[in-house]
Amino acid sequence: MANSSAVTAALRLSEKLPFPLKRLADLAYNYWWSWSGDRIALFQTIDPQEWERCGHNPVAILESASYERLTQLAEDPFYLKQISALAKEFDQYLLQKDTWVSGVAPQLSKDNPIAYFCAEFGIHESLPVYSGGLGILAGDHLKSSSDLGVPMVGIGLLYRQGYFRQRLNRQGWQEDYYIDNPFQHMPIELVKTQNGEPLIIHLDVRQRQVKVQIWQVQVGRVTLYLLDSDREDNDPIDRWLTGHLYGGNLETRIAQEVVLGIGGVRALNALGIQPSVYHLNEGHAAFCTLEVARLEIEKTGKSFYDIEATVRNRCVFTTHTPVPAGHDVFSPDLIDSYFAQYWPQLRLSREQFLALGARRLGDPWEPFGMTVLALRMTRACNGVSELHGQVSRKMWTVLYPQHSEDKVPIGYITNGVHAPTWTAPLLGDLYNQYLGEDWKTRAMLPEMWAKVDDIPDEELWWRHRVLKERLIAYTRYKIRKAREQRGEDYHFIQSTDTLLDPDVLTIGFARRFSPYKRGDLILRDAERAKKIFSNAQHPVQIIFAGKAHPADEEGKRIIQRLMEWCRNSGLNNRVAFIEDYDIYTGQKLVQGVDVWLNNPRRPLEASGTSGQKVCFNGGLNLSVLDGWWCEGYKAGSDGKGLNGWAIGEDAHTSDQELQDRIDSQSLYQLLEQEIVPLYYNQNAQGVSSGWVQMMKTSIKTNAPLFNTDRMIADYVSQVYVPEIAKSVEPILAKVLV
Ligand SMILES: *Cc1c(COP(=O)(O)O)cnc(C)c1O
Repeated sequence: MANSSAVTAALRLSEKLPFPLKRLADLAYNYWWSWSGDRIALFQTIDPQEWERCGHNPVAILESASYERLTQLAEDPFYLKQISALAKEFDQYLLQKDTWVSGVAPQLSKDNPIAYFCAEFGIHESLPVYSGGLGILAGDHLKSSSDLGVPMVGIGLLYRQGYFRQRLNRQGWQEDYYIDNPFQHMPIELVKTQNGEPLIIHLDVRQRQVKVQIWQVQVGRVTLYLLDSDREDNDPIDRWLTGHLYGGNLETRIAQEVVLGIGGVRALNALGIQPSVYHLNEGHAAFCTLEVARLEIEKTGKSFYDIEATVRNRCVFTTHTPVPAGHDVFSPDLIDSYFAQYWPQLRLSREQFLALGARRLGDPWEPFGMTVLALRMTRACNGVSELHGQVSRKMWTVLYPQHSEDKVPIGYITNGVHAPTWTAPLLGDLYNQYLGEDWKTRAMLPEMWAKVDDIPDEELWWRHRVLKERLIAYTRYKIRKAREQRGEDYHFIQSTDTLLDPDVLTIGFARRFSPYKRGDLILRDAERAKKIFSNAQHPVQIIFAGKAHPADEEGKRIIQRLMEWCRNSGLNNRVAFIEDYDIYTGQKLVQGVDVWLNNPRRPLEASGTSGQKVCFNGGLNLSVLDGWWCEGYKAGSDGKGLNGWAIGEDAHTSDQELQDRIDSQSLYQLLEQEIVPLYYNQNAQGVSSGWVQMMKTSIKTNAPLFNTDRMIADYVSQVYVPEIAKSVEPILAKVLV
């Protein structure tokens, strides 16, 4: 059994702090601080420049702060009051006994937690081991589980260089680069054994034994364990197994998935943790089911087929990908080189082993699919929105010849977001006043959110306006820096001072630049778009952000097209692109925009979550009816949106060119005829009451549904503890059994 080492790291850090600041060390080593109401000033106050330079890393800022500065703070009663109030709240949070789960599912005990496996976790920008939606969802999953008291541990990989970083050159072309993560100075701690040595697990990868060490991260009450092969006693090649997130070829990919799935189960074992449920978040972790099986065979001496049902009973699976090509598959050759020594331990032949991942049996070239393996080896599977559930049932009917498509046992639990993380503290403060100080713990309740009607219109409007100003200031700052680094012309750099205008209706669009997301749809008809953006009385502006996968040339071309628009002299104050999208930029965007645009080709957006984040901050969604928005969007009897807008309504065609035309025209029409007029219909104080009405309707209808507290409640009642499925009111989702 390992030491609780995050406590020792915090202790070590606290030793260098003046007495009244010591609790800052505890806060720094638990990401709980990042969703507290005090998060903005808490560490930034120490040294705003250093805070930015170190990527908002609380451990690094405390380590680097001078004794002079620390003692200055230690004599400031204001700051001390803030710390002691926060430390008290933190202690109460950690010790709380009457959690949501203690009332609803007391059978979920700390001794047998849920083990949540994922290839990426997006907890905070200072822990860059995520790429996008999947990771952010996993981070929010842990945070809400912590808030609700669901016993859980996370299992992932600690990537030495994380996901690639994005820089755009003067031609607007994306250049990729990597930065080493300074593990020793991050809010993570190496797990050690009683005698002070790192706890190591062993894995056979490519005929070599690899030693993997384990780091732990505190996320409120939940511990996240991250596996790391970067040890001096490993072969240099194996040290890079956990080098990059989604970086390499299929060979690296399968090796990483072996570390995550098989290594993850071994790590839990070494830690003395016996999970009640293994939750595979996406197929990357599916090898975990094999290791659970191997251990069971070792223990019981039975055959694979005898223990298969036991394994299935302990494993559940969430699928995220609505297109067949998005699911990891490996050739039989590749499987041979990684598993030839492994399948005998499962007492399986090669054919039997390959069959576990085969869509169709009997074809020797049939690849091994991670989703197929996960579907075979888990007792419950869900998609991440109602529509995605439907799409997944259709996609996988082939595996269930005994069922018609609608009876395929794949349900859905619609994604949500962690409200305290994504709601701007300035609005959280407003919710404190009008919804009650405990609003964060009651996010699932529609009757609580109904109280946003009590907020005076001007109050909601001006607070949102401040957040928009903050977004614009941040955008100018980032773009100025990027232009300076590119060595742009002096006047072009200076023009960032007038880039964007807080009086102007502001649209945000940020996500991965995959062709199916159609990042440049709004520019499809250049003349019409220009007229909308540069209208003299009622202009519109747009801020873009997002990366294209390094191998995605078409995605990079879309970014390049957007960068051309940023340089267009007729428009250069109204179109902006922020480089290197991350959680921090994401927060600024979702908190500051008036309208969030999302126009994927339907049904390729499994859920999407960024539009949900916008709702908590009073922004309005303008989106294709795909993913979560199919469930969120509400229209009135006149067919007009009450809580946002639907692009293209229900018009669908398989002709992409035609679909793009239909959707872009619908988008222009909505902007010209509904959105722009409503926004600029402002009274003498500059407030549009019609707009505020929609903001409030959006909060009331979306906030109670699309938060991760509701999502975790659904996972508990429908997946984690199937026996209690009846005793908790299902709010959105149904898992078909
Ligand atoms: C929320 C978020 C995402 C996921 O957004 P989608 O709506 O699924 O595209 C990706 N990246 C960051 C940084 C986010 O904050």
